[in-house]
Amino acid sequence: MNYDLHRYACEPAEAALRPTIKYWIVELMDCGGTNPDATYDFLWEEEPDLCEALGEDRVFALSEEIHGSEELFHSDWYQVRFDQFNKQFFDGRLPSFRVRVVYDVPRRMKEAASGDHRSHLDMAGRQIILAMTQVGSQFVECQLMHHMAHVATETSTDDDPSWLEEMKRLRNLGAPDIEEFGGEQ
Ligand SMILES: [Zn+2]
Repeated sequence: MNYDLHRYACEPAEAALRPTIKYWIVELMDCGGTNPDATYDFLWEEEPDLCEALGEDRVFALSEEIHGSEELFHSDWYQVRFDQFNKQFFDGRLPSFRVRVVYDVPRRMKEAASGDHRSHLDMAGRQIILAMTQVGSQFVECQLMHHMAHVATETSTDDDPSWLEEMKRLRNLGAPDIEEFGGEQ
């Protein structure tokens, strides 16, 4: 793309680059993952004029900031889903967990990023982390249910018999089921 750099003082360039960074993090996450460094490199290839207008330090700071950020609109939306599922499938018994929809799930994981980069259950911090990448797809609801079943059974692994039993119960009640999507995770 060609940008007329004279039209962009520092702030308009940043205003233009911010949504672009969000877009590319979501896309790159969907294609196998990215981190602030990789996103930064990619931005210089994809949007050299905007990056030039902002300078290396600012582009890197923006990449880091957005990697660490949460989309509150979506977090609120899935928080409501958590409450609905809690009532519908668990008789409201689950303790309240904060649901966060973020750009970079591994960045929010305390232990080494060995798990799935699309979602994460932080039992100690009482939060469920979901990735922007899948927002709007039924897959996210399945992941939410997956983690809610862990909360209900106080389990952390997918081969724990009590978790498997709980998933069977939920499936029979017609809860969103990750196995419909190929049984990943
Ligand atoms: Zn699991």
